[in-house]
Amino acid sequence: MTLEAETKAVVAKFDYTDEDVNKAVKEFLRQMGEGLEKDGTSLSQIPTYVTGVPNGTEKGLYMAVDLGGTNFRVCSIHLNGDTTFNLTYSKVAIPRELMVAKTAQELFAFLAKQIEVFLQTHHEEHFEKHKRRRLTVSTPEGFRDEEVFRLGFTFSFPVQQIGINKGTLIRWTKGFDIPDAIGKDVCALLQVEIDKLHLPVRVAALVNDTVGTLMARSYSAPGKTSTVLGAIFGTGTNGAYVEKLENVKKPMAGEYDKSTGLMVVNTEWGSFDNQLNVLPNTTWDIQLDKDSVNPGIQMYEKRVSGMFLGEILRLVVLDLLKNPNISLFKDENSSSNDWRSTTNIGEKSSIYAQWGLDTAIMSVAAADNTPELVTLRQALEALDVYSPSLEDAQAFKAIAGAVGRRAARLSAVAIAAVVLQTNTLTDPENEGEPVDIGVDGSLVEHYPYFRDMIYEALRVIEGVGEEGAKRIRIGIAKDGSGVGAALIALVAAGMEKSMST
Ligand code: BGC
Ligand code: MG
Repeated sequence: MTLEAETKAVVAKFDYTDEDVNKAVKEFLRQMGEGLEKDGTSLSQIPTYVTGVPNGTEKGLYMAVDLGGTNFRVCSIHLNGDTTFNLTYSKVAIPRELMVAKTAQELFAFLAKQIEVFLQTHHEEHFEKHKRRRLTVSTPEGFRDEEVFRLGFTFSFPVQQIGINKGTLIRWTKGFDIPDAIGKDVCALLQVEIDKLHLPVRVAALVNDTVGTLMARSYSAPGKTSTVLGAIFGTGTNGAYVEKLENVKKPMAGEYDKSTGLMVVNTEWGSFDNQLNVLPNTTWDIQLDKDSVNPGIQMYEKRVSGMFLGEILRLVVLDLLKNPNISLFKDENSSSNDWRSTTNIGEKSSIYAQWGLDTAIMSVAAADNTPELVTLRQALEALDVYSPSLEDAQAFKAIAGAVGRRAARLSAVAIAAVVLQTNTLTDPENEGEPVDIGVDGSLVEHYPYFRDMIYEALRVIEGVGEEGAKRIRIGIAKDGSGVGAALIALVAAGMEKSMST
């Protein structure tokens, strides 16, 4: 087969038709309902104990930390009360070895240390004061209440929430694997390490990044309609939405304010359809899952999010490289029996290693619309591919595009299902108003046409259609999780007060 024909055949395997999309939306709605009824379902539908969204008038100085898939961010946020905020932050990459540390303590000690460094750097006055106090007091309770920073802890993994600042880890995702942490309260784990350093910081709220994104978007984009969904399409993927309290049928352990009649629900849609009723499943999807640290779970995430798309693409490329009849990245002069020596790719290229193809190269491929694909070919050369031909680059671009397009269409499935679940398109009170959705993450931010491809799929979904898609407003909530965590810390601080008086 020619390279062009083979590419076409591969691309076709990533087709996710309009019909597939519609079937998946129905299944998504079914699994959402199931998750609201009982625990232990594929789509977890976790009540977050957050019972309302902000309106932009919230004020105060808070801290937030965000343990995501790739980075750890520490920030302080000044909410100005007029829909604006000022944010100071620092960011460190999470060392790989800590993602798979023996004990949770190692990871959380590292996090607390970063909080200390942040306070030293950005809140020196506060830090000096506490250092002086440190000589006389040894517990955080020794601080005067007003000296203690309330901290929102954005922890972007599935947690069984027990209260606004308490929750036990259900499972790790995104390449993290520290079995010792499963079942433990992650807020307590962090507080213990903070206290060891005598920092004037109290973990006031436990927040999933999607909930933070939802809150942040509601804070900065208030209007007649409040935001219905906060979603992340980054290293991982997930969404949190505003559900009617009466629809949350399963029992909830902790206390919460029932007056709003609402409950923010963290769907944990990364694990939508682990049973593969409707998800596509190519040989490359199967292999990726098999070689992952968590086979059989996060099946939707493994087809949608940034951590995995590059790896799917890499597995396809490897298969083509191994096939002697296909001319992709081949060294025409080699007659070796070892397939690696027949390629035009350096022996040490990361293409040969698991996770070796960063999803960022898919963005480069999608963005390069020059006839000679110069930028893409340069990016490939940087991966040790020797003088890739135009045909090579075209094939690579087509396959990368197919993987990305399938991910965007699957993303539309989740978005549409949440919109339909909340009835915001048909609610007469909402007539003619936009349905607001806040998103964050490297894919929506950096992958060209990702949102366009989502909209293209939304338009063909029953119950949404052309008109509905026009009303759905998907906006980036930059720094969402930090600001959102601060907002929830504020709510939690209010609850603390009302409970102590
Ligand atoms: C986690 C979610 C998180 C998402 C985005 C997933 O792997 O399970 O809790 O919201 O990644 O960061
Ligand atoms: Mg994140």
